[in-house]
Amino acid sequence: MRPLPQVVIIGRPNVGKSTIFNRLVGKRIALVDDQPGVTRDRRYGDVSLLGLDFQVVDTAGWEDEEPDTLPGRMRAQTEMSLKGADVALFVIDSRAGLTPLDEEIARWLRGQNVPVLLLANKAEGRSGDDGIMEAYALGFGDPIPFSAEHGLGTVDLFEALRPHIEGEELDEDEFEEPAEGGEGEEEEEHDSSAPLSLAIVGRPNAGKSTLINRLLGEDRLLTGPEAGITRDSISVDWQWTDPATGEPREIKLVDTAGMRKKAKVQDKLERLSVADARHAIDYAEVVVLLLDATRGLEVQDLKIANLVLEEGRALIVAVNKWDIAEGPSALFNGIRTALDEGLAQLKGVPLVAVSAITGKGLDQMLSAAFEVREAWSRRVSTAALNRWFEQAVDANPPPAPGGKRIKLRYITQSSTRPPRFVIFGTRLTELPTSYERYLLNGIRRELGFGAVPVRLTLKSPK
Ligand code: GDP
Ligand code: GDP
Repeated sequence: MRPLPQVVIIGRPNVGKSTIFNRLVGKRIALVDDQPGVTRDRRYGDVSLLGLDFQVVDTAGWEDEEPDTLPGRMRAQTEMSLKGADVALFVIDSRAGLTPLDEEIARWLRGQNVPVLLLANKAEGRSGDDGIMEAYALGFGDPIPFSAEHGLGTVDLFEALRPHIEGEELDEDEFEEPAEGGEGEEEEEHDSSAPLSLAIVGRPNAGKSTLINRLLGEDRLLTGPEAGITRDSISVDWQWTDPATGEPREIKLVDTAGMRKKAKVQDKLERLSVADARHAIDYAEVVVLLLDATRGLEVQDLKIANLVLEEGRALIVAVNKWDIAEGPSALFNGIRTALDEGLAQLKGVPLVAVSAITGKGLDQMLSAAFEVREAWSRRVSTAALNRWFEQAVDANPPPAPGGKRIKLRYITQSSTRPPRFVIFGTRLTELPTSYERYLLNGIRRELGFGAVPVRLTLKSPK
């Protein structure tokens, strides 16, 4: 068997190499330490995610006990681990900006005859923007914004790695990060009997048209006058009878690629499916991402999933063609794991197996859609919220940087659809992101928001 392609992580201490390694390998097996210069052995981990299989190596090198110099033995170690590497992942800390040591490593890497990808870690929020701009100067092409702590940028990293690992040409996908904001500014209380706006998105051939026809119980989409269908006006209302209650429920199926004339140009299809998804989710409360069981979870799928959550929509993942799935339980578990570990924000997203041909799982899928809309629209009372908050802060008080306590006073839910929370307190700019994550996880798990996208803002009095 061919050995796995090797990706070697390189960078000065404290840029987040171990955290990245852990994120990629998916298990907490590497030591992470806040102190610069903690010496470690090289670690190897196998990664199998988003259709890529490779081995990742976390190097111990480049400790700078003497600032701005490179101890020869460390350099030799790193040099060793680069032998036979398919690609070097050069990590910088985008918050800290470039240091002389980064520049020295860059110079050295240029002489190593290994392709280099530049990973700008700690780029969550906007705090890394300047560092990312600076990083262009290193001459390794576009830095890949990444946050190992938050699980952001995984999809882009994998896309950048893919040609080095599979030996293919990069496909120039014009996917842009969606802008934040614009969702849910004003709000009315949600009426749970209102029609559910549902979009079904996914790669070409995932089975979207077949599924929609099955749901609607007729062939109108495939036989309709496709040329006359215009982009903005597509939606179909229908009633679904909930088998749990026997009650009819209104569903509005909104703009969906499968409802539109198929693109003729094959190589445009990949790009189109992302553009279509973006369009559809503008109109949807809940988005079903349809996967193809015969293909599993692919990068394109994660891109769409990520887009849905970034736009603040509730997401469900449905694996279609279950009737012809091979090794269904392993497949299901594999997709579950990839969703939970691939992107932090996808952890726990509802996953159902369906068949557009046999009808299997479709009631379950629609029940799940109504359920996530409920969570997405839910308001927690301020009293209940603060009971939870006090207990969460008591159980794990925020740190006291420089001996001064960060005070977390109270929390309020500022809006729904998607749920947004605001925490008030003092010295909040010093609150570590890991603590924010702790609170967000608590909101999702303990207050029952699950994988619904939840926003959290911190506010200190002026
Ligand atoms: P290493 O020196 O390359 O091994 O770096 P580590 O993985 O030990 O990380 C150093 C510090 O950076 C730790 O405190 C990590 O928690 C933190 N860190 C790692 N990744 C991120 C990130 O994406 N964002 C932020 N804010 N901190 C990070
Ligand atoms: P779209 O591009 O996402 O709209 O996909 P289509 O609905 O055109 O389906 C693509 C192909 O997959 C067609 O040949 C369908 O017959 C087939 N297909 C769709 N759903 C299923 C399913 O549940 N089981 C099986 N076996 N085939 C399916």
